[in-house]
Amino acid sequence: MAMLEPSLAFPVLAFAFFLCFIMSTGSYVYFQFVQQWPPTTCRLSSKPSNQHRPLQRFTIHGLWPSNYSNPRKSSNCNGLQFDARKVSPRLRSKLKISWPNVESDNDTKFWEHEWNKHGTCSQETLNQTQFFERSHDMWMSYNITNILKNASIVPSATQKWKYSDIESPIKTATQRTPFLRCKRDPSHPNNSQLLHEVVICYDYKAKKQIDCNRTAGCWNNVDIKFE
Ligand code: AMP
Repeated sequence: MAMLEPSLAFPVLAFAFFLCFIMSTGSYVYFQFVQQWPPTTCRLSSKPSNQHRPLQRFTIHGLWPSNYSNPRKSSNCNGLQFDARKVSPRLRSKLKISWPNVESDNDTKFWEHEWNKHGTCSQETLNQTQFFERSHDMWMSYNITNILKNASIVPSATQKWKYSDIESPIKTATQRTPFLRCKRDPSHPNNSQLLHEVVICYDYKAKKQIDCNRTAGCWNNVDIKFE
C-alpha cells in the first residue's frame, strides 16, 4: 500500500479533521428568522385539530442558520441537545407568547424540535439560552401583525394581495428585504395561495439585519390570501 510522505501526512490529516469538524458542526452563512401566521399552520397541520391554537398574531417558527446554496440547511448538527432546565422561568414566560406550539399545547416539545434541528448548527455563535433570547428579541423588534395592519392588510376571507403588497410595508418598517412563504390554498389550489410565513434575515452573528434572498416561497403571479 502506498504510504503518505511524512512531510505531507500532517497537512492532509489536518485538512481531513477540518472537513469532519465543518460537517459535524454544520457551517452556515446567515440566519433566517421565520415568523408564521398560525391559522395557516393549523389549517395545513396533520395533527389533531382539537389541539390547534390558531392565534391571530405572527409567532416564531424558528431561527435557522442557513446557506445561500441550500436555504433549508444546515440541520440536525452534532453538539449539545435541547435541555429544558436551561429555559429559565422568565424566558419560558416570554417564549410562551412569542414562540408557542400552535399544533398542540406542548410548547417545550416545539422548542426542543427547533433547537435540535436548527439551533445545534449555530452553537458556535449562540448557545441554547442565547438562541432563544435572541429570537425573542428579534420578534419584539418588529411587530409584523401591526406592520401589516397599519398597511390595511388584515385577515380576510375574500381579499387577495400581490406579493409586493405584503412585502412592501415590511420592507419599509425594517429597511431590509424580507421574503414571504406561502402554502397552496386547499380550497382554490389554482387561483390563490395562503400567506404562511414572513422571513427576516440576519448576519452570521444574528446581530445585524441583512436583505433576504428570495428563494422558493410563494408562487409568482398567484394572488395571496391572508385569512
Ligand atoms: P422545521 O422542522 O423547523 O422545518 O419545522 C417544521 C415542523 O414544525 C413541521 O412538523 C410543522 O408542523 C412544525 N411546526 C411549525 N410551526 C409550528 C408551531 N408553531 N407549533 C408546532 N409545530 C409547528
